[in-house]
Amino acid sequence: MERPQWSLSDFEIGKFIGEGKFGKVYLAREKQSGYVVALKVIFKKKLEKYRFHSHLRREIEIQRGLDHPNVLRLFAWFHDADRVVLVLEYAARGELYKLLRSIGRFSERTAATYAASLAGALAYCHKKQVIHRDIKPENLLLDIEGRLKIADFGWAVQSNAKRHTLCGTIDYLAPEMVEKKAHGYAVDNWTLGILCYEFLYGSPPFEAAEQNDTLMRIVKVDLMFPLTPYVSADAKDLICKLLVKDSSKRISLDDILKHPWIIKNADPSGSISPSERS
Ligand code: ATP
Ligand code: MG
Repeated sequence: MERPQWSLSDFEIGKFIGEGKFGKVYLAREKQSGYVVALKVIFKKKLEKYRFHSHLRREIEIQRGLDHPNVLRLFAWFHDADRVVLVLEYAARGELYKLLRSIGRFSERTAATYAASLAGALAYCHKKQVIHRDIKPENLLLDIEGRLKIADFGWAVQSNAKRHTLCGTIDYLAPEMVEKKAHGYAVDNWTLGILCYEFLYGSPPFEAAEQNDTLMRIVKVDLMFPLTPYVSADAKDLICKLLVKDSSKRISLDDILKHPWIIKNADPSGSISPSERS
C-alpha cells in the first residue's frame, strides 16, 4: 500500500459502513492488490464550514506516524477539489461500544485482554509523544480477529508540553481536565481505569443523571463497586490504582502490564473470539 499518489479510481467502493460528523465511511478494495480497506470520505465543504482544516491535518499526521497492532492504521490519504479521503485499516467487527452494550458486560478474560491491548497501544503512543485524550468505547474498534484498535485521533495532541484544553466525553474526563488544570499523559491512564470498570460492570463508574453530578463525582473520585456482578479483587485493585486523583500517583502503563489481574486473565494474542466475550 505504498504509492506516491492515490486517487478514488484506485479503489472499488463497497458497502457504506457509517457516518461521522465530517464524512462517510465505506468498505473498499484497492484494485491492484485486492487489499480491503475502509475509506473515510470527508467533504471539504463541511470542513470549511467548521474551519476544521488544521485540526484534520493534525489528525492525519498523527495517525500516519503510528504503527502498532492495537492502533488503527492510516495507510494513506489524498484529496481532490471536493473531498479528503483517508485510507484506513478495516475493522471488520466494528465498535467495541456496540458489542459492550449488546452483551452488557465482558468476562474478566475479555476485559483484561482489551485493557492490556489498550495499555500497550497507549504506551507506544506516549513514547511517540501522542496523548489520545479521547479514549472511549466509541473510538475503539475490533478487527476480524477480535483485536482492539484505537481509532479517531481527532482530539489527540502531539506535544511535550502539558495541555489545558477541555475536551472529550464527560464520563471519561480525568479530574485534572474537569478542574481545567494542566494535564498530560496520565489522562489516558485515568481513562483506562474508567474503561476497565465499564468493561466489567457495563457502565462507567461516575455516571449520574446530571452532567454536573458526574463532574463532581469525578473530582471527588466517588468510586463504588456494586456487589453484583461479581468482579475479582485483582480487577478492583487495578481500577483503584488507575483512578487516583493525583495524576503522578497513577499506576504506569508498563506496570499495568505486570499487574496480577492482567497476568492472570489477559490473552497474550490480544484476540477474543465471540464465544469468549461474556
Ligand atoms: P466522529 O466524526 O466524531 O469521528 P464517528 O466516530 O461516529 O464520529 P467516523 O469515525 O466517521 O464517525 O465513523 C463512522 C462510522 O464508521 C462509525 O460507526 C465507525 O465505527 C465506522 N468506522 C469508522 N472507521 C472504520 C474502520 N476503519 N473500520 C470499520 N468501521 C469504521
Ligand atoms: Mg470516529
